[in-house]
Amino acid sequence: MAQNFNLFSLEGKTALVTGANTGLGQGICAAYAAAGANVIGAARRSCQETAEKIAAYGGKFTEIIADLSDINVIPRIVEEADKAYGRVDILVNNAGIIKRCDAVDVTVEDWDSVIDINERMVFFLSQAFAKGWVADNKGGKIINIASMLSYQGGIRVPAYTASKSAVMGLTKALANEWAKHNINVNAIAPGYMATNNTQNLRRDEQRSEEILSRIPAGRWGTPEDIAGAAVFLASDAAAYIHGFTLAVDGGWLAR
Ligand code: NAP
Repeated sequence: MAQNFNLFSLEGKTALVTGANTGLGQGICAAYAAAGANVIGAARRSCQETAEKIAAYGGKFTEIIADLSDINVIPRIVEEADKAYGRVDILVNNAGIIKRCDAVDVTVEDWDSVIDINERMVFFLSQAFAKGWVADNKGGKIINIASMLSYQGGIRVPAYTASKSAVMGLTKALANEWAKHNINVNAIAPGYMATNNTQNLRRDEQRSEEILSRIPAGRWGTPEDIAGAAVFLASDAAAYIHGFTLAVDGGWLAR
């Protein structure tokens, strides 16, 4: 078989990334634009900064403003996304929240708010795009953003751990059903990354020191650190990879 040296190119593809205005979502958007994709960012606020980063690559970017805590926004997201560039080929379920609190004090509201965006939205948005991909028989890629707490229990974040464990489970469950339709469902489990999500942890000197001393790479990760994994899983290079969660964690899980 002839070697395809463009295995990692996303030229001609369109990617929709949720939570595209900052952090890992912004990093993934920039990486996809650099790999040649048209990018759609879904976020509850302006993605101006992301748009500027993409413009630097000469890439195309469209934003869809939506509150992703409510699954009723899904039909509008699908419609606007399909209108933007014709067809969405890659969905990245990145938007997520974390609430830190002792398990005995977690309220129903806080529990539901974490599960709604980190788990419920991930499933129903994936379902909405997969329906179209099964119908048009052209395949697709879903990349879920999992966590170290897909593998471990964590401390004072029980709803987050429940949701991220569900993300890893869903990644396998959906891959089992959709692989035959040429839909790759995989996940990335970031380690401890310097974004808004970990701001409070990094401000807590003791916790920050504990975490850093346990990371073999000796530093917090950055949005750029997950760019390669995100492009790889969205590309033809990952065509036969289904249901796998790839840790990008500076070696955290190896300890
Ligand atoms: P972040 O900077 O807090 O980004 C989270 C993104 O989700 C933001 O764009 C945020 O928008 C968006 N979002 C939250 N609630 C939303 C809502 N109701 N509607 C629309 N968008 C909403 O943190 P991050 O680290 O980049 O997180 C990205 C993903 O990585 C999350 O799923 C997180 O759980 C996961 N993760 C992060 C780490 C880490 O160490 N940082 C580790 C493992 C997994 P706003 O800016 O408007 O809040």
